[in-house]
Order: sequence, then structure tokens, then C-alpha cells
Amino acid sequence: MENLWKNNLRKIEPYVPGEQSKEQNIVKLNANENPYPPSPKAIEALNSFNCNSLRLYPDANASKLKQALADYYNVTPKNIFVGNGSDDVIAIAFQSFFNGKLPIVYPDLTYSFYPVWCSLFNIPYKTYPVGEDFRINPDDYKEANGGVVIPNPNAPTSIGEGLDFVEKIMNYNRDSVVIIDEAYVDFGGVSSVELTKKYENLLVTGTFSKSRSLAGLRLGFAIGSESLITVMEAVKNSYNSYTVDSLAMEMGTASILDREYFDSTCKKIIATRERVTKEMRSLGFTVLDSSANFIFATRDDLSIKDMFEYLKARKVFIRYFSLPRIDNYVRISIGTDEEMDIFLTELRGYLKK
Ligand SMILES: *Cc1c(COP(=O)(O)O)cnc(C)c1O
Repeated sequence: MENLWKNNLRKIEPYVPGEQSKEQNIVKLNANENPYPPSPKAIEALNSFNCNSLRLYPDANASKLKQALADYYNVTPKNIFVGNGSDDVIAIAFQSFFNGKLPIVYPDLTYSFYPVWCSLFNIPYKTYPVGEDFRINPDDYKEANGGVVIPNPNAPTSIGEGLDFVEKIMNYNRDSVVIIDEAYVDFGGVSSVELTKKYENLLVTGTFSKSRSLAGLRLGFAIGSESLITVMEAVKNSYNSYTVDSLAMEMGTASILDREYFDSTCKKIIATRERVTKEMRSLGFTVLDSSANFIFATRDDLSIKDMFEYLKARKVFIRYFSLPRIDNYVRISIGTDEEMDIFLTELRGYLKK
């Protein structure tokens, strides 16, 4: 008998993010990152940052960043929580709100981090299958539950739903906290932030990683009633009261204030997405109608896994999930027009093979 201490080590299956390759000259369309640089105002905030201020702990309340977000979303700073990426924010929300006996519920095809948090925090969960058309049926969410989490637009399906959908979910779930994960909403989705004023049990989460080109900075936020935000702050302050660092606060604030650059890059990505969708459909692919910065596509007569591997060998990285129901689909992040042209050229090359 030895190494009995090993019995006490935590056994857990972690979340696996899209591959970050060290290879040069790859076309990286596998992690839904933004192909455009962050706002020039955010870069200016970095360049003029007073490094001596790093001696000091950051403002634990992130007041400046919360104020900028509050102004942007037309809420008060008391309705805002900020953290190190929305993954951090959602993890804290899970710990803050999902403490009941009933399972929390979410779609079977969705962000694969949710089951990981459930396992880490011992939260029971149950999934409802999305329809054949990959849409979420709100009526599934009538059943009593310990909480609801739904990305809108959903990932990896790319499908966005309207406010009528969210209101239905809210009406069925007066007794649970509902989290709407809006990681992709800026690419043509409809935001539920206004509904947080009507429903005290609704939390909307957002991120600087996708539409604001700051995935490496790690900044995310949640918007909800004071009753929800206060609990999240208490949970956060119970293990790390200084989550957002001074530099992230400055760059994030500058990014939020630069509406013009934000609007123009989101618009460019949407235009490129529409062009690539049309192009792929003309090549015989089924492409779901996307409200995100990625598309989800298949072609029945092809092995999509084989296609994915061919493209990877040609330095075009897209995302393939070896999962039930979607193992013949790929998720393609929208890059610049140039990158998407390389993708389309390689794709045509594959089809001619
Ligand atoms: C990317 C993503 C997030 C979080 O990303 P962060 O970089 O941690 O902000 C959250 N939810 C979904 C559905 C995502 O795709």
C-alpha cells in the first residue's frame, strides 16, 4: 500500500479549447477569435499605461470599467459584474446561483464548458436535445429545474433566437436563475440586456474575447439585477477579490468607449460571413443561418472529418467536434476576407480531389 494520497486527488475532465498552434502562416479559423486587431484606443491605453501603477493592487470594484459598461448597456454599475473572461464570470455565476437539488438544464448541443463546471462544482444537470433544425425548443424548459443556461446565439450551431424566445424561457422559469450567454450577440444577435430590468432572475453574460478582439486580455462581464450581482460579488470576493487587473481595466474601458471601431469590425465580419455562407452553399454545403462570428456547415456526401484533416494539413485550421449528432459538421470562424479566400480556395481544392 503506497501513495494513498493519490486517492484524494481531484479527478476531472477539463474543457479542451481550440488548438493554439505554434506553426507559422496558418489560417486560424478554429477558436472564434476576431481577425481584426483590438480598438486603436485600447492599444493607445496600453501604450500610455503608467507601469509604476502596477505596484498597487487594482481597484477591486473595477469602477471605471463598470461605469463604461453601464453607459454602453444603459444600466447602472450596480447591475454589472466583471471578471477574467466570461468563462470566469459564468463559473462564478454557476457557483452563485446553482445550489438547488434539481438539475440545471441546457441544450444537448451547446458550449462544452457547461458540463465541466457542473462536474467541478458538483451541480447536477440535464440536457434537452435541440431539434432536427438545431433550434432550441423553449417549451422543453417548462419542467422544474435548478437553473437554466443557454447561449444566444448558440454555439456551435450559430443560431440566434429573438426576445420572444427568451421571454418564454423567463415565463416558464420564475423559480430559477436563467443565464443567457451572449458571447456572440454582437454579430447580429438580439441582446436580452433590457430584459434584465424586467426579470430579476435573468443574468446576461458577455465577453471582450470575440467582438472586441481581446481574447488574450481575459475580460468578461455579466449584467443583471442587483440581487444577482451582489451574490456574484460575494462569491468572487470569497476567493479572489482582485480578478480584473489594472491594465485590463484600462484597455477594456478604452475598447468600450470606441463604438465606431467596434461597429465597423463587427459589420465587416458579418459581411464576410454572409459572403462565405453563400459561397459554401453554392459548393453544395448546408450552412446554418448564423448570427455569430462562425458558421456551422456540413455536406452529406462528404466525410467532414477527412475534409477537416485535409485543410489542417494545408494549414487551414477549422474546428471539428467528434460528438454525437454533429460528427459530420465543422465550425468555421470568420477571418478576414483574405483568410476566407484562402479557406475557400483550399476547400475547392479538396472537392476536386
Ligand atoms: C468564447 C465563449 C465564451 C467565453 O469566452 P471568454 O474568452 O472566457 O470570455 C463563453 N461562452 C461561449 C458560448 C463562448 O463561445
